[in-house]
Amino acid sequence: MTVNAPATSTRSEALFARAKAVTPGGVNSPVRAFRSVGGTPRFIAHADGAYLTDADGARYVDYIGSWGPMILGHNHPAVRAAVAEALLGGTSFGAPSEREVLLAELVTRLTGAERVRFVSSGTEATMSALRLARGVTGRKFILKFRGNYHGHADGLLVEAGSGLMTTSGELGAAAPSSAGVPEEYAALTLVSEYNDPAALDSLMAERGHEIAAVIFEPVVGNAGVLIPTPEFLAALHRVRDSGTLLIADEVMTGFRLSLNGATGLLGLEPDLRCWGKIIGGGLPVGAYGGRAELMEYVSPSGPVYQAGTLSGNPLAMAAGLATLGALEANPGIYQQLDRYTGQLAAGLRSAADRAGQPLSINRVGSMLTAFHQGVPDGSIATYQQAAASDTAAFAHFFQSVLAQGIYWAPSQFESIFVSAAHGDLELERTLAAAEQAYQTGG
Ligand code: PLP
Repeated sequence: MTVNAPATSTRSEALFARAKAVTPGGVNSPVRAFRSVGGTPRFIAHADGAYLTDADGARYVDYIGSWGPMILGHNHPAVRAAVAEALLGGTSFGAPSEREVLLAELVTRLTGAERVRFVSSGTEATMSALRLARGVTGRKFILKFRGNYHGHADGLLVEAGSGLMTTSGELGAAAPSSAGVPEEYAALTLVSEYNDPAALDSLMAERGHEIAAVIFEPVVGNAGVLIPTPEFLAALHRVRDSGTLLIADEVMTGFRLSLNGATGLLGLEPDLRCWGKIIGGGLPVGAYGGRAELMEYVSPSGPVYQAGTLSGNPLAMAAGLATLGALEANPGIYQQLDRYTGQLAAGLRSAADRAGQPLSINRVGSMLTAFHQGVPDGSIATYQQAAASDTAAFAHFFQSVLAQGIYWAPSQFESIFVSAAHGDLELERTLAAAEQAYQTGG
């Protein structure tokens, strides 16, 4: 039987129509659906360096980088060669292999974590780190911050950021953030305000003895970029006075803000850290790690169970080794990323000013969000402040630059990610497109 597809003008539209018939919403992760900006998601045919090419052959300067992993740019020769070599040796063993040891040695050397356990996604990393914290402390409760996103495990979909700030259309939705999360699970997750040290101190004074761990994004990407104040970081470190473990979720910031992530950049001292994205060089990987005395609670050396059929997958380990190896061999990449993103921020600032468009830019290294609202750069520090942005103006900006070949993150409440493959030409193109977007209204 043939089914007539709806009339479409592009291959992306045709693919989206077919995808919707077989996949919820036509996508395998909600923020890809362009729901908050409208229009048809571009189906990507291939990617190279700083560029995505869609199914219709249109090329875009890419500011998503697969939501963070592609710090070296797409299809990087060293990563491709490492994966190709690994492929020749088989794709999965279900038994330990040398690349897992090499990547664990590299990660422990770069981060100072004494033990690391590989899993297959950031969600698994945060979920497992929290189970470990509960196992170590014997406590039930965890504490997170409004607008921080730590993956889609039940207990973490409470006042969550990222796609949750855009899917429901309403901001600041009450806990839990998703149907299907029992209230009893959500009740074990306490929520405080990011960048509010007094609120954290008072919650800890009242409930600290019951809280296994405080988990946080050390620089938030999932409410748009939010930068922690020194006072908030100090309050975070004080949670340990209650015997509560401090978990830095570096899934986004790890190996992006420095070779030792936000921990290195901001001088943090978390008990446990979670990684994902860059650690797998574009293949599915996550990891968590910390001091040996804590990590040795994990099975099989300890009583906290955690396992994975594809954990330590040889292709993923190869991509991670090549990516982290390239970063370690060339730490100047971080200065290069900072310079590019700084120039991008300055260019957006002056283009918006020329057009009289309100804009407030938050940036740390190669993570940047340009919030559409008229407050000073760097002054948006909380979820509520971010949520006050003009999402219609953002949607105009997004569509305008997309039509000019710039693939920005399709939500006001996300960071963009710059890669080492972005250069002068891409900067010039991006700023010319932004100029036109702001001049025409957003
Ligand atoms: N933690 C943070 C800070 C993230 O940004 C993300 C994903 O964007 C996750 C956890 C979940 O990672 P994954 O999507 O690999 O499960």
